[in-house]
Amino acid sequence: MKIVIVGGTGDLSRRMLLPALYFLDADGLLGPDVEVIGLSRQSLDQAGFRDMALAAVRERAGADYDAAVAARFADRIDYIPADLSNAAGAQTLKARIGDAETIFYLSVSPSLFDGICLSLKAAGLTAAPNRIVLEKPIGRDGPSSGAINGAVANAFSEDRTYRIDHYLGKETVQNLIALRFGNALFEPLWTGRSIDHVQITVAETEGVGDRWPYYNDYGALRDMLQNHMLQLLCLVAMEPPASLDPDSVRNEKVKILRSLRPIGAGEIGQLSVRGQYRAGVAAGKATGSYVEECGQPTDTETYVALCAHIDNWRWAGVPFLMRTGKRMAEKRTQIVIQFKPVPHSIFPGAGGADVLANKLVIDLQPDEDISLLLMNKTPGLDRDGFRLSPLPLSLSLATAFGGGRRRIAYERLLMDVIHNNSTLFVRRDEVEASWAWIDGVRAAWAEAGVTCRPYDAGGWGPVAAYNMIAQLGRSWNE
Ligand code: NAP
Repeated sequence: MKIVIVGGTGDLSRRMLLPALYFLDADGLLGPDVEVIGLSRQSLDQAGFRDMALAAVRERAGADYDAAVAARFADRIDYIPADLSNAAGAQTLKARIGDAETIFYLSVSPSLFDGICLSLKAAGLTAAPNRIVLEKPIGRDGPSSGAINGAVANAFSEDRTYRIDHYLGKETVQNLIALRFGNALFEPLWTGRSIDHVQITVAETEGVGDRWPYYNDYGALRDMLQNHMLQLLCLVAMEPPASLDPDSVRNEKVKILRSLRPIGAGEIGQLSVRGQYRAGVAAGKATGSYVEECGQPTDTETYVALCAHIDNWRWAGVPFLMRTGKRMAEKRTQIVIQFKPVPHSIFPGAGGADVLANKLVIDLQPDEDISLLLMNKTPGLDRDGFRLSPLPLSLSLATAFGGGRRRIAYERLLMDVIHNNSTLFVRRDEVEASWAWIDGVRAAWAEAGVTCRPYDAGGWGPVAAYNMIAQLGRSWNE
């Protein structure tokens, strides 16, 4: 089998894909016949690309770098200099790989997907069992994503099209599936009868930096919420699938996306906040504003907070509160399932105010951890009766399974592509349904004239986001 990384010399390939393949090799999960071929227009020979690949692996692997594995991995590596957006480039590739089973990983700008699929098809490289892996972003709205997906579909059938959302490769995200469907405990509670609301936070400390030409065209809503955050929302909210097979899981996810209540211009002001960072102090360093990074005035949001509702029986009345931003106070990706408080407190003290409602906190970054906050009696004597305090019941993977190496999410996903398992990949109808909802939000913003509120770099976002959640009777988990 051949894995062709189109864009093999690029950033994603060097930071993630080549190291992930190296680790699969280290774990004995790459069959002896698997060959890794880097492809880009850069004029390099096989030795030059091997050196580049091994340097990238060494940097990423750090103390986990093993020279013997690296030597074995190097033997699998080849390089083809070619421009795959034209027919001649695809013919060069065809001459090298022939009819061997091949995975094409498009680690290039999505603007090239159409042309690359056309030339692969013309070169006779798209028949089964060959498959294609697509990186985000798939379009910047419904129509553009439809055009890309249509072009890909002309070359590869849907069951051989793997749309990556690397969040789905994270151990804790898969653990969410295990937690929900491997324990009978949660299912009866997993509804609006017991759950007050759900929060999903993706906070990044970095700014946009050199990526601004791309980012300025997208903004936080399209770059982060449309894909990663809606995928997390789906895994929290979906009905139990009949099995773990790809269509069972994805059928349930798409039902959630289609049940997202559209938000109109009349309510978008109460249910969302757009923000943009101004100068501030982030990670102990003075940093400039987003506008300074771009070098031009812009209204692109680097922060968004949004309240979504899912119109079905399970989730009626439960807000799903999402927020994401750049240049935030800390790096944090977290899902919080906030349960309802006890209906009546028997404990003294400020009318039972010290009985906090339970919450299930699922941390994805920087640490992977799941903890359930339960009320506990504070040890000691108290003349008035009991004092309570919340204690976490922790499912720390590091504690339970040892502090081994934390896997790159792409390891799992690449292994699944090799084994034809698309459960953790995004199906075309999911992409379409999520864009349909996001396009509605953008249209409402435009109609209502919602502009960006400033927030200090190194903070937790605009004050308006705190006002928004307060008006909904909740508060951000901080
Ligand atoms: P990048 O650093 O600009 O790399 C692009 C690669 O594509 C280079 O190797 C480039 O080499 C090659 N390339 C460009 N045109 C080509 C053509 N016509 N034929 C063959 N090769 C061509 O980009 P990246 O950051 O790696 O990102 C790649 C994709 O992944 C993008 O879709 C991006 O949105 C997505 N992504 C990236 C990240 C990340 O962390 N970097 C994260 C999520 C998603 P030559 O110019 O020499 O041909």
